[in-house]
Amino acid sequence: MSPARSRTVIIGAGMAGLTSAQILVAAGHEVIVLDKGRSPGGRMATRRLRGSRIDHGAQFFTVRSEAFAAQVDAWVAQGVVEVWTNGFSPASGPELTPGTPDGYPRYIGVGGMTTIPKAMALGLDLRCEQMVFNIRQHPPGSTGERWEIVIDDGTTIGADQVIVTSPLPQTASLLMEAGIPVPEALWRTDYHRTIGLLIALDGPSALHAPGAVTGPDLYSTDLNFVADQRLKGISTDPSLLVHASHEWSLRWWDEDPDATVDALIELSLPYVGSSQISETQLKKWRLAAPKQLWPEPFWVDETASLVLAGDAFGSGEPGRPAVPNLEGAFLSGRAAAEHLLAGGALS
Ligand SMILES: Cc1cc2nc3c(=O)[nH]c(=O)nc-3n(C[C@H](O)[C@H](O)[C@H](O)COP(=O)(O)OP(=O)(O)OC[C@H]3O[C@@H](n4cnc5c(N)ncnc54)[C@H](O)[C@@H]3O)c2cc1C
Repeated sequence: MSPARSRTVIIGAGMAGLTSAQILVAAGHEVIVLDKGRSPGGRMATRRLRGSRIDHGAQFFTVRSEAFAAQVDAWVAQGVVEVWTNGFSPASGPELTPGTPDGYPRYIGVGGMTTIPKAMALGLDLRCEQMVFNIRQHPPGSTGERWEIVIDDGTTIGADQVIVTSPLPQTASLLMEAGIPVPEALWRTDYHRTIGLLIALDGPSALHAPGAVTGPDLYSTDLNFVADQRLKGISTDPSLLVHASHEWSLRWWDEDPDATVDALIELSLPYVGSSQISETQLKKWRLAAPKQLWPEPFWVDETASLVLAGDAFGSGEPGRPAVPNLEGAFLSGRAAAEHLLAGGALS
């Protein structure tokens, strides 16, 4: 009789979890991916507002590492990803001039960022709307799988290995009963918040191609990013996505939603121009970006069968700046899967 195949459960179908899953499945392993969302993507998220498609989480990504470059080239060849621009507007104020190339392509999902996770999920056993409530560990020596994943409807799934890619505060609550000595510093990781406003317009915005303003080019430090989704190429109808700064988002977090929308509209008016706003939608990201990164690309427990990964983990390479972004999440998910494969934890 052949030995039972080992099963890996991955919690989170964002960039990190889907990357891990693809690698393990390509190596012939049984993998189940669970996500509480209605569709995969996590902080890669696209919504419809009237006739507009609007990315309201990650807006684009850049490529620094060879590993990510190879993956991005494959996505481009498949028609999943394309270059948006090679640089954003260098000037703020009334003359919102076109982007100046700075050598770094900014990539986007074709038709919206969610195209990427949807393509990555093809062929995976992905189970959405599955909110994991708890992860328990069976005592050493007990038969069957080591881990028990408890879903919030009370059902359970056994796993020999688990990769958890949810943001760290969510991961901490999942592991409360597991009795795992996770380093304090990981649990103490705090996250920036981001409040965003999706704005449908009845005409063109005041932005010019390529359609985004960021950093010091924004006229107000209360803003972090403004992007015209039609100029970006993902929407046929004109619309804007506005992300407030982390500081502004923290200050306004508990304010009345209508007052928050009004304040964000006020901040957005220079970019709205002479068009009318036809509809808005507020989006609050409580766990937008980790404030500190764990230096290594993942953390693994002493049984070598529970791995924590995601954008809160660094590159592990001295000299490579660690930034919590899509590339970092990809590299973390990849490193987590390769660790399980190399460590022989998978049979
Ligand atoms: C507003 C905003 C703007 C950004 N802009 C950019 C950008 O322009 N460029 C860039 O590169 N990066 C950007 N980022 C960062 C980027 O989106 C993240 O670094 C990346 O998406 C993180 O991927 P991840 O897989 O680590 O986590 P996530 O994408 O957060 O995935 C984690 C998944 O876990 C799931 N989950 C959590 N808890 C549970 C549970 N209990 N049970 C089941 N599932 C669970 C979630 O639903 C989620 O799908 C931005 C992020 C935000 C919020």
